[in-house]
Amino acid sequence: MAGLADALTRRVVADGAEVLVRHIPHRVASTTAVVDRESIARRPCFLCAAESRPEQKGLALGDGFTLLGNPFPIVEKHLTVVHAEHRPQRIDSQVGAMLDLAAALPGSFVVYNGPQCGASAPDHLHLQAGSRDGLPVVREARLKPGPALEAYGMRALLFRGERSRVLGETQRALSLLSQVTGREGEPWCNVAAWAEPDSGLTLVLYPRSKHRPEAFHTGELKVSPATIDMSGILVAPFPKDFERLTGDDVAAVYREVTIPEDPFREVVTRLESRR
Ligand SMILES: [Zn+2]
Repeated sequence: MAGLADALTRRVVADGAEVLVRHIPHRVASTTAVVDRESIARRPCFLCAAESRPEQKGLALGDGFTLLGNPFPIVEKHLTVVHAEHRPQRIDSQVGAMLDLAAALPGSFVVYNGPQCGASAPDHLHLQAGSRDGLPVVREARLKPGPALEAYGMRALLFRGERSRVLGETQRALSLLSQVTGREGEPWCNVAAWAEPDSGLTLVLYPRSKHRPEAFHTGELKVSPATIDMSGILVAPFPKDFERLTGDDVAAVYREVTIPEDPFREVVTRLESRR
C-alpha cells in the first residue's frame, strides 16, 4: 500500500476559510481516470477483483458492504467500503447505510462519490471512509445551522440530528435537486457523513455542476474534485500544480464545479419552507 508517507500538505485561505492542498503522487491515476461509460464497460471491475482476493480479508458489515484498506489513501485510515454485488453506484438507497456506518466509525467520515462526480468505479456500488481529523468541512459545518453551507467557494446542503431526520431531509433534498437541475439519473453530487459526539449525525450533500474544471481538460491544472476535495482537501497529484495553487485558485475551482447560485437558492428556499 502506498500510504501517505510521500504526501505534502499546504494550507491556503480560500474565500476567507482555511483549506488544504495535498500533493499525493500516487493519486495521479485516480485524478486522471477515464470514467466514461464505454471505457468502464470495457475494463475488468477492480472492486469485484479486490473483494474476492483472499489476502484482502475485508471486514464484513451489515447492508452487504465489506471494509477494505484503500490502496491509494488521501486521509489517514482511508477505507473503501465495497458492496458484495456488482451493481451501479447510486445514492438514493444508500443514505441510511452511510449514516449507520458513520455512527459505527467514531472519528471518521463516510464518503459517497456520484457516478459522474469522482467515483472511480461508477458500475460497482461503494463508499469510502477515513479519519476526519482536520477536515475543513467539519469545522465549517459546526459554524452553520444549515440547510445552506457555503464555504471556500463551494455551496452545499447541511443536515444534522437524529438518523430519521437526516435521512428524510437528505432524500427530500435529492428529490428537489433532481427537479431543479433536471439531470438524467440521480442529481450530480458528493456526500459526506459523520457522527459528532454531542450533536448527532451530520450529513453534507455537495450538489455539482461539473465533474472537473475546464482547466483540467485544457491540461493547465490536473485536479478532479470528489467528496474529499469538496470537504476541503484538494488533491494535486502533480508537483507543479501543488506548488503554485493559491487560495484564490482553489476557491475558483470549487466555485466552478459546485451548483450555480440560482438553483442552489431555490433548493434551500424549498427545504426551509417545509421545516
Ligand atoms: Zn464489480
